[in-house]
Parts: sequence; C-alpha cells; structure tokens
Amino acid sequence: MLKSYYEILNLSPNATKSEIKKQYKKLAKMYHPDINSSLEAELRFKEINKAIEVLLDDEKRKNYDALRTVTKTIYRNTAKEPKEKQITPINGEDITVKVSIDYREALLGTYRVVNIAQSEVCPKCKGRKLANGNKCPLCNGLGEITKNRKITVKIPCAIKNNTKLRLKNEGHEGKFGGKNGNLYVIVNIENENELNIVDETVYYNAQISPYTAILGGDIKVPTLWGEATIKIPPLTKSFQSFKLMNVGILDKKTNKKGDEIVKIIIQIPTSITDEEYNLYKKLKEINLGKKNASILN
Ligand SMILES: [Zn+2]
Repeated sequence: MLKSYYEILNLSPNATKSEIKKQYKKLAKMYHPDINSSLEAELRFKEINKAIEVLLDDEKRKNYDALRTVTKTIYRNTAKEPKEKQITPINGEDITVKVSIDYREALLGTYRVVNIAQSEVCPKCKGRKLANGNKCPLCNGLGEITKNRKITVKIPCAIKNNTKLRLKNEGHEGKFGGKNGNLYVIVNIENENELNIVDETVYYNAQISPYTAILGGDIKVPTLWGEATIKIPPLTKSFQSFKLMNVGILDKKTNKKGDEIVKIIIQIPTSITDEEYNLYKKLKEINLGKKNASILN
C-alpha cells in the first residue's frame, strides 16, 4: 500500500501545523540535495515536499483527510483486519551516486571519494520507533538515524562510459535482520572535445599551416597517453590521415593499445602580412609560368 503523507513525514494524522513545519526542517536536513547527493535522497526529498505542499495548505489537507477516511473504510471492508503486527525483516534500500572521470582516468583506472548519507537502525529503539512506550527521542520516532559517510571507490582501468559499479552492503542498513542495501556508482566519462572515440578507435583532427602541408615538418598531437609527434611529409593533402599505433584504448584482455587516427586539416590563416601576400602572389605567378611553359612544350 502507498504511504500516506503522514507516514512519509512520520507524523500522526493529528499533527499541528507547527509540528509539521518542525518535522519538515528535520527531514530537510537529512535529504536536501545540498546535503545528501544520493538519488534515493532526491526521491525522498521530492516525496516529502509533495506531502508538505498538501499538509500545510488548510484546504488541501481537509480534502486529503476526507479522502483518506473514505479509502480507509473501503480498505477495512475489503481486507482482513490486521492481527497483531509481526516483525518481518526489512532489507535496506540501495543508494545510487554518479561520478565523473576523464578519458585518461577511464583508461588507467582511478579513485573517487563519494559522500553518502546512509540510514542505520536507531541504536536506542532498534528500529521500533518507540522507546519506553513513547516516541524514541534519539531518532524522533523514525526508527533510523542518518550517518554521513565518505566512501573511496576504486574505478578499474579500461572502464566504459556509464558503467554501474556495485559496492555490496554499502547502502542503507537492513532492519530486523534484513540485508543491507548496495551502493551503486555510475561512472560517467566526460567527453574531451579534442579526442573523439568511436568504436574503440581514437580520432583527432590536426590543423596545420599551408607551409607545413607543402614543405612537411613535425607536429605535436594529443593522445590518451600524452603528446606524440608526427612527421608530416612534404605535399600533404587536406583530410589525409595518419595512423598512430599503440597510443589508443587499452584492451584489458590482450593488454595492447589501439590506434589513433589523425586527420590533417590545412588551415588558411585569417590574416596575412603584405610580405606574405606578395610572396603568395609570386608563387601564383611561378605556378602560372609553369603551366604556360607546359602548354608551349
Ligand atoms: Zn530510535
């Protein structure tokens, strides 16, 4: 059955407005996204806000209470009366967090520290919510307390984007003998604009000057493993590709690195000096002369 708004806030249906506000402040300290970054807390906080929106509005609360009474009557008439409540094991919920790493970290492996708010069974009431017949003062009747923990997550090498790592039993604590939840860490690999990775191959567009294209020369290009030098031969064309071996993605099984394909883009300068202009003009004349000579021959 769905939890009622009162159950979500852990309040009695007779709670006063100030009690509701007080409880909201308390819960916000546990589940507000600024304090608790887990997805589970985000959902819980949304649920709490939905409940608050109704219960702090007199008109909405009146309608909600009326509807609850009707639903309860129907439920009582159709279901068996619940006998004495049996304590059954409750498994702890999972926690999911996201971390971002860059390509080099994805290839080499790395570590990330994640902050999580983990719920534990209240040590005073052992999750029963009551102590000496009254609302447990330690957990305020929630049956659980929240502990902020820092967990170091080892991210293995050669990991793929959006891999979900599982840290067993590191989620919320189980109650009454139930199992602990797991902590899931979704690893996002940030896209580096300069290097594109398509189907295990790394691509890079290298811009070179017209002089380098014609005369040849060494250029430096980034790779996943640092900078590499390519020898550009004279008279290199635009869109010509060069293959750099053993600088690409590491294959975990074979322990070999893949390739990087470097595509040459000849970049025309945005401005030139008078001297350069005259030299280009001269080159053009020489080229025309060459053509005329070949026609005459
Ligand atoms: Zn307690």
